[in-house]
Amino acid sequence: MLGGMQTSPTRPRLRLLATGGTIAGAQTGGGGRGYTAGALSIEALLAAVPQLAALAQVEVEQVARIGSQDMNETVWRRLAQRAQAAADDPAVTGVVITHGTDTMEETGYFLNLVVKTAKPVVLVGAMRPATAISADGPMNLYNAVAVAVAPESAGRGVLVVANDEIHFAREVAKTNTTQVGTFKSPNRGLAGLIHSGRLHYFGPTVRRHTAASAFAPLAAEDLPRVDIVYAHAGMGRELIDAAVRAGARGLVIAGVGDGNLPAAALAACAEAAKAGVAVVRSSRTGGGLVERNIEVDDDAAGFVSAEELNPQKARVLLMLGLTRTREPAALQVLFREY
Ligand code: GLU
Repeated sequence: MLGGMQTSPTRPRLRLLATGGTIAGAQTGGGGRGYTAGALSIEALLAAVPQLAALAQVEVEQVARIGSQDMNETVWRRLAQRAQAAADDPAVTGVVITHGTDTMEETGYFLNLVVKTAKPVVLVGAMRPATAISADGPMNLYNAVAVAVAPESAGRGVLVVANDEIHFAREVAKTNTTQVGTFKSPNRGLAGLIHSGRLHYFGPTVRRHTAASAFAPLAAEDLPRVDIVYAHAGMGRELIDAAVRAGARGLVIAGVGDGNLPAAALAACAEAAKAGVAVVRSSRTGGGLVERNIEVDDDAAGFVSAEELNPQKARVLLMLGLTRTREPAALQVLFREY
């Protein structure tokens, strides 16, 4: 349902899609720690930032009201469809999506691949609930709207705004459990900075996204099951075998170091690949890239390297990629292009 705020022909129109998260979270007790994500309506959030009215005419749409740990393909599809509809509306300048921070990087990267538009699409969240001391949500929301209505934000793909920073959805990762500076873009760095609504971009993103993505707009077919298996010292093959038995069409390995895994697990992955399961090697380190054929013979085993994508983003690309091909070489091309 759409509900309008103030209207004026001179201010850009902004579509705000709300999904829940801490930015809409209310504390549950006096202790300051417990809270329920998504408890507040988007109208309550907007009321906390009356300054938004000077930036844009904000139209709100509540797409979901969940903690982002419950984000899944069903909600992603609805969100992608609503973001696409907003972007396709000639009267809308940009889109802001409020979202929990836990899985914001996955949703952001998914939308970066499936929404066909050059208009700004900006995800925003908060680390402190709306009722906390020094809640970070109001300023984050203000900055996100400023980014989404700025002409220089167009064509940069999906962006994440938090803590006075602008991140590319492809690059950003949540790196801290509770602190407001949780978001980092470890490999390629920030898209830019934003201070009280004033934008400073550093450079464009380099990979295919949004208007140039072959996965946009999102097709109707279901995405295949892709599981992530976390590697560790002493790891066996059991979880890999279990994922294959459970019907995984793809496996992303959160490998140690440069995407490595112990011999028994490696053998299980090679068997899975031979049986037609796509195996992508990523890293649990949180930075750097996984190259092919360093300590693992990817060519012989039929593996794909995730390059710079962390495991959760590699999973997103693999799910979409598997709707097009199961060939390791063709999947590898996707991991170089997106
Ligand atoms: N787990 C919640 C979520 O991701 C809270 C985290 C947050 O929004 O900061 O929605």
